[in-house]
Amino acid sequence: MLAQHAGAARWSYNYALGRKVAAHEAFTTARDALLDGIPEPTPEQVAAAAAAARGQVGRMPSSIDNLKAWRAERGDDRAAVEGVSPWWHTVSSYAISSGMRDADAAFHAWFDFRAGRRAGRAVGYPRFKRKGRSRDSFTLYHDVKRPTIRVVDARHVLLPRIGTVRLHSNLRRLIRLQGRDELQVRSVTVSRQGGRWYASILIAHPAPAVKPTRRQTAAGTIGVDLGVKTAATLSDGTVVPNPRWGSAAHERLTKAQRAYARTRRGSANRVRAARRVAKVQAQMAEQRTSWIHQVTTRLATGWATIAIEDLNVAGMTRTARGTLEQPGRRVRQKAGLNRAILDVGFGEFRRQLTYKSSWYGAELVVVDRWLPSSRTCSACGWHNPDLTLADRTYRCGQCGLAIDRDLNAAINIAAAAAQTTDPSREGRPTLARTKPARTPRDGSEPDTRDERDPEASYRVPDEPGPATAGPGEDAGRPPPNRWRPPQPSDRLASHTPEPALAS
Ligand SMILES: [Zn+2]
Repeated sequence: MLAQHAGAARWSYNYALGRKVAAHEAFTTARDALLDGIPEPTPEQVAAAAAAARGQVGRMPSSIDNLKAWRAERGDDRAAVEGVSPWWHTVSSYAISSGMRDADAAFHAWFDFRAGRRAGRAVGYPRFKRKGRSRDSFTLYHDVKRPTIRVVDARHVLLPRIGTVRLHSNLRRLIRLQGRDELQVRSVTVSRQGGRWYASILIAHPAPAVKPTRRQTAAGTIGVDLGVKTAATLSDGTVVPNPRWGSAAHERLTKAQRAYARTRRGSANRVRAARRVAKVQAQMAEQRTSWIHQVTTRLATGWATIAIEDLNVAGMTRTARGTLEQPGRRVRQKAGLNRAILDVGFGEFRRQLTYKSSWYGAELVVVDRWLPSSRTCSACGWHNPDLTLADRTYRCGQCGLAIDRDLNAAINIAAAAAQTTDPSREGRPTLARTKPARTPRDGSEPDTRDERDPEASYRVPDEPGPATAGPGEDAGRPPPNRWRPPQPSDRLASHTPEPALAS
């Protein structure tokens, strides 16, 4: 039933996209015909031609237009009426409309990207979906008048037309909200990944006012420095090592992909090999998210304030290859760095920390991206202009502090967060937050945090707190705590509601 609905959604996506592409091609043909006699048209002339062409061919059909057109020609095999999709009554009508909405979204994303209204990675011209090639998914929307989606119990969800579906994960958290009459299901998106089906339930509910626990308040503020060598360093000295599952799984993935490449097109072996590749990819994604879940839950439940840096993930993972005229430098090294960053999943880390902080009453402070956290001494505020990525130890030229580079950054991040959240600190020296005057020549960003105005000054709060280390204290500093995964005996970790809804 799920595959059938996903197939119907794919069909309706292609149907809607076909109509949209035809309209768009008619528009470009009409516009180019109007511009034909002009050798070098000015932007005004192009705009005028576009407006005239729009008048000729009409606007791009929206999902509502497409739905209307489809209703007129869908047919019905129950009454032996021929049409484009006489089988439509066998699936939920939401599967059809969700495909059409997705076609709208695909075109919007492309338009917005071309107009520079969309950040992030490049969006190509919408493409048609192919069975077995594109990701299977469909969305069922909640019917206000006739509620059709329901969380039956912790293990089952009721979907229109499909019926009750048994789940692998647990919906305890949703049940609790349903019991308090606070739950409103908006939609369910069902998707297939690596041979498994996932249901993402979108709900609306009033945000509960959660206060941090006494233990969290006592713990105060923690600064988190996310890195590549070690995944995260906390300002209390805890080191969260990089899981590095990525590299082991990467080998398995390469093996599976090679096996796939050796198979013949259209053979049964090829289908099997493709399934194997998808499975390894899905496993990698699952391992990554479950690790991030462990770390972010621990942070959100352990402290009242969590400070992280606003890392430019898209910029950090951008390819270093450069252009033909300006080839990038250190392309191979950068490619390795990119993979490590993606393995750790910075973006996902921040996303989880954001919603979990609100669950547990913690406050997430995102410190400015241009804070010179790596170059500034966490004890006296001196800044080292010569620090490079290779220097693993920070040595202060003013007070003599020698401290792990990442720990120094984490302490600075915590201090910056304390300054932005504590109103009593007003009037104290503030952080210099200067944007860099130039961008690196080769287009790569070796360490975004350290690209800044060399004249910028930075001071940490002047009273010595637990987050600041005195001169020369590094020698007597205990070795950093090793990270341990949450234990069953861990009171805070034991009631962790592992998000059943994560897709
Ligand atoms: Zn110093």
